[in-house]
Amino acid sequence: MMSDREYDAIIVGAGFAGLYMLHKLRGLGFTARVIEAADDVGGTWYWNRYPGARCDIESFDYSYSFDEDLQQEWEWSERYAPQPEILRYLQHVAERFDLRRDIQFETRVERASWNDDTKRWTITTDAGDSFSAQYCIMGTGCLSSFNRPDIAGLDDFAGRVYLTGHWPHEGVDFTGQRVAVIGTGSSAVQSTPIIAEQADQLTIFQRTPNYVVPAHNYEVPAEEAQAIKQSYAELRATAQESSVGSGRTLPRTPVLATKLDEDTFQADMERRWAVGGLVGFVGAYADLIMDPAAAQRVEAFFADKIRERVKDPETAEKLIPSGHHIMSKRLCVDTGYYENFNRDNVELVDLKATPIDRIEAGGVRTSEHLYEADALVLATGFDAMTGALDKIEIRGKGNQTLAEKWESGPITFLGLMSAGYPNLFLVTGPGSPSVLTNMVSSIEQHVDYIAGIMSMMRERGAQEFEPLPASEPAWITHNNTAAEMTTYMQANSWYMGANIPGKPSIFMPYIGGFPAYRNICDEIADKGYCGFAIDGEGQPCDIDLDDHMMRLMPEELIEAMEAA
Ligand code: FAD
Ligand code: NAP
Repeated sequence: MMSDREYDAIIVGAGFAGLYMLHKLRGLGFTARVIEAADDVGGTWYWNRYPGARCDIESFDYSYSFDEDLQQEWEWSERYAPQPEILRYLQHVAERFDLRRDIQFETRVERASWNDDTKRWTITTDAGDSFSAQYCIMGTGCLSSFNRPDIAGLDDFAGRVYLTGHWPHEGVDFTGQRVAVIGTGSSAVQSTPIIAEQADQLTIFQRTPNYVVPAHNYEVPAEEAQAIKQSYAELRATAQESSVGSGRTLPRTPVLATKLDEDTFQADMERRWAVGGLVGFVGAYADLIMDPAAAQRVEAFFADKIRERVKDPETAEKLIPSGHHIMSKRLCVDTGYYENFNRDNVELVDLKATPIDRIEAGGVRTSEHLYEADALVLATGFDAMTGALDKIEIRGKGNQTLAEKWESGPITFLGLMSAGYPNLFLVTGPGSPSVLTNMVSSIEQHVDYIAGIMSMMRERGAQEFEPLPASEPAWITHNNTAAEMTTYMQANSWYMGANIPGKPSIFMPYIGGFPAYRNICDEIADKGYCGFAIDGEGQPCDIDLDDHMMRLMPEELIEAMEAA
């Protein structure tokens, strides 16, 4: 008989990942407990309550596929559901599958230590709990560790400081206030049009302009919802074959962007612009993220759209991105972002021209001006992919912490596990497609895969599962091969860790595509989990990783590469 504090698995985090992991393991007869820092479920959608927060993958796509009744019965109101609705959805999932009884809220996991004698993890929390589990599963989120920037004088600010990723539950009314927003990523793009409507004055501090595409959000009519639900099986199957794990993106134009004549290219771009969002542009052309010339062609179209939407030509030019290629930072999806700058009460400050000197009690001082403010919004992003893991003292074999092992950048096999940390799984960890995909697709794939490993281990009566040390360099080499084929490596993005001072410059997510990744995982499982050791014994992974990726490359791209 197990005591109260012993489980087959401890799961950290109660977002999309932790909730499905718990449900899946329960269904297989494992005992599991979720530990969550927040006082309720939701993860991203619990914390990011800033005005305008909503998904950028269409709601019907950005949702669980594991339960047919759930996907048929849940009603999404908008093409891109707002944060409160996604949170309600996850709360509904928790209730529907009776998950809360196995979730401990308001508890932060501080430490996880592997005991090589018992072959179990000891997990301890800030509430003083200690759990013992054969498996420790990190559903801690890729974008859950908020980046509070180290700007001189930040603590001197006399007004309220808000973090988009840690927004007050009661909401904020900016009526009558002068508001300063630092950052121009997705969170700022979504929130500033609403803040501008309330505030007396809004000053937006831009260090790097981003590529922004209109959402064209709308309330989904009942007939459209019905039609989508009727074809859900097809949508989900398409997502499995989509490089970004999405069932609703516009099909790829079968000719390279660089090969289209000007009229056809413009017409194709207008068609995509009319659809909007990631739906319209992710995977639009096979050469878009591979060939700078293709990217530049699309970028010129975006620049013209900015000039059309922003009336003041000087402001428009400041908003046009340069220095990084489209897609190499996450495309932002907007409702009224550029129109912000046509309002009398909104000002754009270009920090490249006039950097922030310091923050003072009364506002933000740049090299030129003091911009007075009553409230300061930090839309400054996250210590992505590794931040939440680094905050936990994870000690594996030999007592080394994971953060120490990853000092020069994350080292994993499949972005799922790290050698020396047996039975520790990372849901959508660095080195997996994760943030380059519809995250719910990637989360479901990882959860199912982890559950498959645990079932196999139980059947074999095995105790210990971890990557062979040689699997990691092979995986990293393959990751780098994939990334180096794209324009992504040249951007100072959070994918590269560039937004956090001192963070190693490594391209963290796997960019070989969701289907290639899934196929690799499946082949590894079919081969008895080659590349992993089970109770110390394992076969090397003899899979041609690059071939898996190249096999799924669009024909037109292969032909162009061969011709070159
Ligand atoms: P999270 O939802 O981040 O949950 C992790 C949980 O772990 C959190 O609740 C956190 O409190 C908890 N936790 C972390 N560390 C500890 C600890 N030590 N102890 C206890 N608890 C801990 N992705 C998309 O694909 N499409 C989108 O449209 C999209 N929109 C986004 C919008 C915003 C504003 C942000 C920030 C991200 C968005 N993402 C989107 C990415 C999003 O993070 C994922 O889609 C998904 O919600 C991640 O789920 P998760 O369960 O893996 O992690
Ligand atoms: P982000 O994309 O990292 O943007 C942060 C912004 O803050 C950037 O403009 C950055 O400038 C700026 N910044 C950071 N530190 C600064 C400093 N010290 N001084 C001045 N400016 C500074 O973060 P985010 O907007 O929260 O988005 C993160 C990710 O979450 C997105 O890429 C997306 O994956 C997800 N997300 C999705 C949605 C959605 O549409 N569903 C909404 C929000 C977030 P630099 O670019 O120069 O570093």
